[in-house]
Amino acid sequence: MKGPRRTLLYAGAVALAAWALAALFSFSSLGGQFDNNAYDFLYRAFPPRAATSPAVLVVFDERTFQRHGGIRRLRANLARLLERIADARPAAVAVDITLADPGDPQEDARLAAAMARVPGLVLACEMMPDGSGWQDPIAPFRRHAAALGHVSTLAGPYDDVNRRITLERVAGRERRWALSLETLRVLSGGGEILASPADLSVGGRVIPSRWDEGRPLRVRYSEGGIPSVSAGDLLDGAPADALAGKAVFIGVTAISAAPDRLFTPLSRGLPMAGVAIHAQAFQTMHSGAFLPDAPAWLGLLLALAGALLIAGPLAAVMRWHGWALAGAAAAALHILPLICFKQDVVLPASAPAATAWLALAAGGAFRYFYVRRRLEASEAATRRYQQAFHFVAHEMRTPLTAIQGSSELISRYNLPEAKRRELSQMINAESKRLARMITTFLDVEKLSAGQMELRLAEIDAAALVDACCRRAAPLAERKRIRLSNLVPPDLRLKADAELLEYAVYNLLTNAVKYSPEETEVRVGAAAENGQVRLWVTDQGIGMDEAEMKNLFRKFYRTKRAEQSGETGTGIGLSIVRQIVELHEGDIRVQSAPGRGSTFTLVLPAR
Ligand code: ADP
Repeated sequence: MKGPRRTLLYAGAVALAAWALAALFSFSSLGGQFDNNAYDFLYRAFPPRAATSPAVLVVFDERTFQRHGGIRRLRANLARLLERIADARPAAVAVDITLADPGDPQEDARLAAAMARVPGLVLACEMMPDGSGWQDPIAPFRRHAAALGHVSTLAGPYDDVNRRITLERVAGRERRWALSLETLRVLSGGGEILASPADLSVGGRVIPSRWDEGRPLRVRYSEGGIPSVSAGDLLDGAPADALAGKAVFIGVTAISAAPDRLFTPLSRGLPMAGVAIHAQAFQTMHSGAFLPDAPAWLGLLLALAGALLIAGPLAAVMRWHGWALAGAAAAALHILPLICFKQDVVLPASAPAATAWLALAAGGAFRYFYVRRRLEASEAATRRYQQAFHFVAHEMRTPLTAIQGSSELISRYNLPEAKRRELSQMINAESKRLARMITTFLDVEKLSAGQMELRLAEIDAAALVDACCRRAAPLAERKRIRLSNLVPPDLRLKADAELLEYAVYNLLTNAVKYSPEETEVRVGAAAENGQVRLWVTDQGIGMDEAEMKNLFRKFYRTKRAEQSGETGTGIGLSIVRQIVELHEGDIRVQSAPGRGSTFTLVLPAR
């Protein structure tokens, strides 16, 4: 696989891993708490605009209980209160006080009579603790109620903060809508509540709320709260004009008698009484200020896109630009929930935020190790290059010394003709050897720089191999190694003759160099499927898998080769590979330590 493709694949894997971990986190309780905190933070940062409230709270607070006989006199006081409220002509009245047990008969009779005068009365019912049914108000009260609504509020999950209520609850097969929703229904003319899987509609208002989660509704708490009147003041004769045309929510807020208190995203210090939560829920639905949740898949999809946008630049774009791009993507992931919130949609923050941090960490780690590996590889190459350079310099000295010595002998002494000829032949041979060495080195540089051009010609493969065998024969004879040319006589291919000869000669001399005495080196070739395969097989020292991978790197030599005592530079094979690649071919190695090697050149037949 090519470098850039592999890098992108790594980046994809890193992104996917970071995203999967982040998704797991977002489904954990820790992720849930993170979402809650982010929601509360955004809620406080962008509180809803204050508007005139369609609701008014009438509350039994501490003052009312102090002045009007405490909780004992609750029903009697409620009766008087309802009488006063009825006179003020409210649009609807919701009573968040449980009236499930019979009390003092006289008091109950007066309360029932008062209820009869109240238009649009909604009474509270509560689910039995075991969920088997509903605790409704006793019959004399129920008779006068336009509707019954459940008063359960939801905390959390994971904390004591109320962010939503369930609009629908079912107990003992009987469904009840929330007190706030029933009040809205009564206020909008008492029509039916129509339920579809994604929303509810009542009196022409559509309330987005999914059925599969118990129809939750995020309460849009308003900063100023709902206007509140003390029941005690009304009982004492204070004017009740503010209640005209409003939805009046009656309930207990005195700390001693109202256990159904919860914090809200806006509360500072004191939790909010249940009746106020119902009034706020009513106001949310009445004003249409909904905060629907974004679908879970959308959050995960955005997080995945973000992970790719972070890991991609970190893996592929080196220098600081990579960090800058990844940082921008990470910042975008953090800002997404905010943008959604400003569009009145709640996007859980845990998945995108965790994805951003995990992808940054994983991408950064990948980058660190990747860069380090490249640095180590380049340092190793430099070291090998230096070693090879020293070796080459040393090798060059050998012919130079011979040339110097011979020429000095010739010029200084009056030597016999035969000796002079021998010495000048030596000078000639050694300077040719020097020239060859220099040419090889220059060829390597030219090949690596892509400056070498192919001079394609039709070649007789057997003849080419024969020429190589003749050149390598002296080397082979020294070790009594047999060179067998098994190339079929009629095999022709198109290649650069000089370069291909160089490649085959290199493979051949390597095979001889790295084989023990009295073995055989065979060269064969075959044409098939538009390709010519040319191979050199020996019975030599071989190499293992790891060594085969590094074989074609410049200046690489195997341990076995170094221990064999054969000199070498480790550049021959890198040139061979470049020659083959110039021909748009391939080179393959099969080898096993101690069992010999086969090098195969695969060239297009053209
Ligand atoms: P050199 O032979 O000068 O060291 P090469 O580039 O030709 O450089 O070869 C690189 C290395 O590959 C050799 O040093 C040797 O370790 C290994 N090698 C090449 N050919 C063979 C072979 N036929 N058998 C075993 N090892 C080989």
